Amino acid sequence: MKIADIRATTVTVPLEAPLRHANGCHWGRFVRTIVEVEADNGLIGLGEMGGGGESAEAVFRAMKAYLVGHDPARIEEMRFLIANPTASLYNNRTQVLAALEFACLDILGQAWGIPVSEILGGRLRERVPFASYLFFRYSSPEDGSGEVRSVEQMVELARGLKRRFGFTTHKMKGGVFHPDYELEVFNAVAREFPHDKVRFDPNAVWSTEQAIRFGKAVEHLNNDYLEDPVFGLNGMRRTRQMVRIPLATNTVVVNFEQLAANALDTAVDVILLDTTFWGGIRACIKAAGICEAFQLGVAVHSSGELGIQLATMLHLGAVLPNLSFAADAHYHHLTDDIIEGGLLPYRCGSIEVPKSPGLGVKLNRDKLKQYAELYKRLGGYPYDQDPGRPGWTPLIPNDRWADPSDGRPVKIPH
Ligand SMILES: [Mg+2]
Repeated sequence: MKIADIRATTVTVPLEAPLRHANGCHWGRFVRTIVEVEADNGLIGLGEMGGGGESAEAVFRAMKAYLVGHDPARIEEMRFLIANPTASLYNNRTQVLAALEFACLDILGQAWGIPVSEILGGRLRERVPFASYLFFRYSSPEDGSGEVRSVEQMVELARGLKRRFGFTTHKMKGGVFHPDYELEVFNAVAREFPHDKVRFDPNAVWSTEQAIRFGKAVEHLNNDYLEDPVFGLNGMRRTRQMVRIPLATNTVVVNFEQLAANALDTAVDVILLDTTFWGGIRACIKAAGICEAFQLGVAVHSSGELGIQLATMLHLGAVLPNLSFAADAHYHHLTDDIIEGGLLPYRCGSIEVPKSPGLGVKLNRDKLKQYAELYKRLGGYPYDQDPGRPGWTPLIPNDRWADPSDGRPVKIPH
């Protein structure tokens, strides 16, 4: 088998409501680039990458010069072909490699008649549990619904997600408002579900002292971990010395060099593995193996996926022996998907690992076209800007918090 063609299509798919985070906002939708790798026998493998537009589509087109004629089974060689760590100093292609790895695994699974999880060592579990992933939100630009700003609104969001999807782990995204206010909100969520697990993630915008203050104040809760309270391994190490909650990161240990540094002088307890940021599902499995040897925890990170990427997270979650936490997903905030059958269903807070050959998801071409056209109409959005505070930029550590009493509606193109 040989790779015959590579195509990429950028799409944008609406969210229920804009999701606020420490650096800005998801402006009511996700932008993703869908990658199709076609083999010379007609099989098509699917990949997905965050962001997109003409430049992302051009990057994948440019990979044809490297990969047309390449055997999709030679995935490790593909790493050195397009993302050799020394040759790629000027063209970091880790995320490009990830999308192409997904597609090659998808082709191989289809060719061999087995799901990707079986190529990767075989399923240890049939379903992967997920966390609720609670965000402060602006109102939907479509119909004005879905705002989350007050304590009551956040608790109601958590109740609703638990009712609809069955979550028993609640991750709250903070870093938007003053930490004292977010502490009040987080406590209220934890009180509402005393038997569920909780975790908090302010996206590393606190000072170390603030991280210690917040961490100490939530030590009594049923915490999985405290995620990225502060930026940098040294800040994490100092926080860890003072707070009796495991610390997790998707920010300061995101490659093998950093993982080695963290093993030698530990600053983080739980490594959140992202199939895109680490350069593929196989890289995440390798990282999880290192974590297993050093007795560090692992969980599955979400960078805002559609169904193809979600499938990679499910196959990853299925094969990791040391996955001891619910995975993260933004997935249930989406209103639709570009795969056949629409959004993959949750049951009891978990999603079934696909069992059909390859990744186990297929493109719905009508949806792909519909959301590619929506992308052409709306373009990208500035992830690192807050539509409610034009010109605002956070500091690290931040003190430029949003105001929880500010309920002015924001204008977001849709
Ligand atoms: Mg995070």
